[in-house]
Amino acid sequence: MYDPRPTKYPMPVQDPEERRRNFGEVALGYDRETAVREASRCLHCKAHPCMEGCPVSVRIPDFIAKIAAGDFEGAYEVISESSSLPAVCGRVCPQEKQCEKFCVRGGRGEPVGIGRLERFAADFHLAQETEGELPAPNGHRVAVVGSGPAGLACAGELARRGYEVTVFEALHEAGGVLIYGIPEFRLPKEIVRREIGRLLALGVKIETDSVIGRLYTVEELKTELGFEAVFLGTGAGLPRFMGIRGENANGVFSANEYLTRANLMKAYEEDSETPIYRGRQVAVVGGGNVAMDAARTARRLGAEVTIVYRRGMEELPARREEAEHAKEEGIAFRLLANPVEILTDGENNAVGLKCVEMELGQPDASGRRRPIAKEGSEFTIAADCVIMALGTSPNPLVKMTTEGLATRAHGEIAADGEGRTSLEGVFAGGDAVSGSATVILAMGAGKRAAESIDRYLKGA
Ligand code: FAD
Ligand code: SF4
Ligand code: SF4
Repeated sequence: MYDPRPTKYPMPVQDPEERRRNFGEVALGYDRETAVREASRCLHCKAHPCMEGCPVSVRIPDFIAKIAAGDFEGAYEVISESSSLPAVCGRVCPQEKQCEKFCVRGGRGEPVGIGRLERFAADFHLAQETEGELPAPNGHRVAVVGSGPAGLACAGELARRGYEVTVFEALHEAGGVLIYGIPEFRLPKEIVRREIGRLLALGVKIETDSVIGRLYTVEELKTELGFEAVFLGTGAGLPRFMGIRGENANGVFSANEYLTRANLMKAYEEDSETPIYRGRQVAVVGGGNVAMDAARTARRLGAEVTIVYRRGMEELPARREEAEHAKEEGIAFRLLANPVEILTDGENNAVGLKCVEMELGQPDASGRRRPIAKEGSEFTIAADCVIMALGTSPNPLVKMTTEGLATRAHGEIAADGEGRTSLEGVFAGGDAVSGSATVILAMGAGKRAAESIDRYLKGA
């Protein structure tokens, strides 16, 4: 029965006072009854505008109808036709800019909570012990480099079509940013491991601690190991810095390093062998999801945290929900401010961040208003730890070791809409091609490349 409630059913969350002291998941998920109610807010629009906003075209009204009818496993099956990692996407997709942005219920009130429902169906499925059937082998072998969402989506799609797929991952655990970047309190690693477990059950092999460009080159994967095609999903893990004075001081980190220590190496646990710098006053520079994650991690490690961002709240690129959660956890925002120097003591330890105030001018090429420094507006923020969350570029190793692989201005691998690169039989997708983007866009690219590899190997 249709539910006219104008707003989403609230998502239960851990209390902010409580959660800023632990790494447990913040959003706790709908129970069955709330999921059915939220699903009943859907109008089942014939034109399904919500689907337009989903980069992998999940059949949204169909899976929501199944939840409304209490067929949770059926809902999961509909989603998994299009998405290889639904429990992940239901949690971290920027739904407000994608599927939910187009939901007609958003016109008067709030859109249907599509992401929350997707998470519910996926978690329901993961809680069941189901075993899939192994697809019949088709005799072809494909190598996938990188085990982030792009590589995993590509591997899953190929395995379902009967390919023998081996994923080579540089780190000691598979999952890419899902494992080393996005913190436990937003995306529990157990969820990622279970989603990866479903791919292993399809016959996908994962070789960790295998840096392609060092262990084997891309060429050798084909000539020595006999793979007929290679997919490069190596992401964009090379951090950017500002190039300001003091950036080499003790206590200055890239968000990537800081989050990898915390997430992948569990440095926040008492018995962890990996050290982490527990600053007392931490300044995080940047306004994206990465900045929010670094700030909220530092807060959980006991610091007073300030986010320094050069534009205003309106322009903040992070998900609104994440910024709200950060505020609730007691993180300060110093907006319209840009660092010009990291101040140090006599032993090169960071002690503060010198900034200038900014004002917003005309929109730049990105469509956002350009920040302009106000003359004579310098001020200082005390900080014994500064975390730079300014974006990342693709790691150059694969490019450096693969002759003839064309790349673009910032080192992104050049690939067409089907993932074909300048080299025969070598495909690419995800952040390695687009620069840092989103989980679902990386997955979409991995899936499209798998379809393209399938056509290539079948000679179509
Ligand atoms: P990655 O996830 O980066 O995976 C690439 C993998 O390739 C890595 O495991 C890497 O170790 C491996 N690799 C690299 N080079 C080699 C090599 N030479 N040999 C073997 N392996 C190699 N997106 C969202 O949609 N929502 C969010 O909330 C969100 N939050 C984020 C928070 C953080 C902290 C970060 C860093 C990113 C976030 N993103 C978010 C972006 C999203 O995670 C990425 O867009 C996505 O993971 C890209 O997927 P990918 O598979 O292309 O690359
Ligand atoms: Fe929305 Fe992401 Fe799910 Fe697509 S995959 S329906 S964009 S939450
Ligand atoms: Fe349901 Fe909104 Fe999609 Fe309409 S646009 S089918 S209401 S989710």
